[in-house]
Amino acid sequence: MLTKQEQLKYSRQIMLDKIGEQGQSQLRNAKVLILGVGGLGNPVSLYLAAAGIGTLYIADGDTIELSNLPRQIQFNEQDINKNKSDIAAEKLNAQFPDSNIEAIDEMLDQELCDYYFPQVDLVLDCSDNINTRYLINQSCVSHNVPLVIGAATGFDGQQLVVDSRDKNSACYHCLFPSSEKAPTTNCQTLGILGPVLAIVAGMQALQAIKLLTNNEAQINQLNLFDGLSNQWQQFKMKKQKSCSVCGEKGST
Ligand SMILES: [Zn+2]
Repeated sequence: MLTKQEQLKYSRQIMLDKIGEQGQSQLRNAKVLILGVGGLGNPVSLYLAAAGIGTLYIADGDTIELSNLPRQIQFNEQDINKNKSDIAAEKLNAQFPDSNIEAIDEMLDQELCDYYFPQVDLVLDCSDNINTRYLINQSCVSHNVPLVIGAATGFDGQQLVVDSRDKNSACYHCLFPSSEKAPTTNCQTLGILGPVLAIVAGMQALQAIKLLTNNEAQINQLNLFDGLSNQWQQFKMKKQKSCSVCGEKGST
């Protein structure tokens, strides 16, 4: 049951048939892990905390740099050289006292995945490098935790949901089976604009809310955004039986 205060605060969300009081309670009871508090993790964590997610774990081992500030909108010049997850958690806790926000100020590794993934309802990949992306994908598949992936470079964004609770769901490894084919470029080599990240992050937050409230989130659909032509393209994906992560030969 929601308190009177919660009913008022979240009334515009509760008003939506597909959310309702039940959906809002699901958001309040949810535990969500955001991996990376950079250009995507900044807006994603703000929107999810604002929507009333009860527990957010936010993980990032990096420190804040001057060149982050044009897109990592929770941070300011006083925060430079401090850990991203520590600063974001401090600010989010102050702004959203109803939510419990915990910082994980370490670089992601297998051990950390194996510790946190079984405790959470959903993982958001807001990381910026391909090795981390593969590790998160593989760990989400092996722990059966739904995953919302976002990425952006230059004017281009991509977004994908992997939900291994559904046996037909393709994974990131189905899409890019070997690291040579996956995009190795990142914001440091290609540049990036804040609003492109905001668009992808908004879509990630929306997919997360749908997954947590039993609404359909689109699996097997790769969404690509081109910020120059202002167009989204959707590509159908298929689970690959030969996938070494989620397929028949996979570890699960
Ligand atoms: Zn796969």
